[in-house]
Amino acid sequence: MSFDLTTIRQQFPALNQKIHGKDLLYFDNSATTLKPQCVIDAISEYYATINSNIHRGIHYLSQRSTERYEQARETVCRFINAANSCEVIFTRGTTEGINLVAFSVGETFIEEGDEIIISAMEHHSNLVPWQMLCERKRCKLRFIPFNTDGVLDMDVYKSLLNERTRLVAVTAVSNTLGTINPIKEIIQLAHENNSLILIDAAQAIQHMPIDVQALDCDFLAFSGHKIYGPTGIGVLWGKESLLDKMAPYQGGGDMIETVSLEKTIYNKLPFKFEAGTSNYVDAHGLAVALDYVSSLGIEQIVAHEHQLMVHATEGFKQIENLTIYGNSPDKAGAISFLFNGVHPADVGMILDKQGIAVRTGTHCTEPIMQFYGIPGTVRASFGLYNTLEEIDILVSMVKRVSMMF
Ligand code: PMP
Repeated sequence: MSFDLTTIRQQFPALNQKIHGKDLLYFDNSATTLKPQCVIDAISEYYATINSNIHRGIHYLSQRSTERYEQARETVCRFINAANSCEVIFTRGTTEGINLVAFSVGETFIEEGDEIIISAMEHHSNLVPWQMLCERKRCKLRFIPFNTDGVLDMDVYKSLLNERTRLVAVTAVSNTLGTINPIKEIIQLAHENNSLILIDAAQAIQHMPIDVQALDCDFLAFSGHKIYGPTGIGVLWGKESLLDKMAPYQGGGDMIETVSLEKTIYNKLPFKFEAGTSNYVDAHGLAVALDYVSSLGIEQIVAHEHQLMVHATEGFKQIENLTIYGNSPDKAGAISFLFNGVHPADVGMILDKQGIAVRTGTHCTEPIMQFYGIPGTVRASFGLYNTLEEIDILVSMVKRVSMMF
């Protein structure tokens, strides 16, 4: 399939609606993306045909359903270039993936007095689980700071790494500042220090190619709903050698090999980490979404979204009294801004009346707001279906709003 925006937009039925009588302009893609018809159809077709619980049945439907689920795992494996599909664990989303690692790595590899490094720009999902772990295990959380442009201070990162650093967890792309972090270098430095490294790819998977073997990280988490797939499904990828050693996260059906009243032998990977009935239907929906993205070409998506980012940044920079938060030279996905003294919610409400969906608030990154001393931002975030014309309308509407204040 070629990257023809007119055709692509027709594949997303939600784009074809009016909000408050205006054409929808959807700029809330960092929160969640709209779904192409092929994903919607795949889910509906699944429930209408082979729906049956996986792994436990010898009957026809259960076997077909199990095959689909395992095919979905293979699709994810190819998409992120994992070495083996047993390293792909289906989760509810990024949040669950990070909690899984925080718990299971914590149980297996972390001792009192150990240190964990994250950045100061993490989403709460990549902050709170580590705070919880540090409280549970009496270890210490250290932070890589960022400068006013929203760029991580790599010198401080280097100085934080020491013999007690067990794990580093960093986002590949900031959902608030749009910063693309130098994860390749962050991973390399962590490994030189013998520390584990987790990458939060919630805002990267849809905006750049991800190759876990080339990155050589230890864990990587993402959510299906941010890459045009269903909600309630996500992926935690981890290196087999580590996952094998790690304590299970949750106990229940499917994660066991044998159970007696006294003792349980856990199942092999990846099932050890998939307790209970998996979200097999949405795993299939996610696989269809990944195939859809692959058919468009991730490089084409990157190029298109880069154009959107440059165009929007140029437009916003023309608006008086507007401050952009996050001015890294490498940005993807999102632009955050504010007008002097105007509450972001007021801006969001006026834009909404024009059919423009942006997000306002702290974007689950309260420490970033505390750093800048602001209540929140207005965030416009892009997806593969957004157009330069839509950006022009957004910028001119934001300009009108700025004049009102
Ligand atoms: N990390 C980042 C950088 C995010 O943007 C998000 C979602 N906004 C998450 C983690 C959490 O994703 P989810 O809510 O899908 O688990």
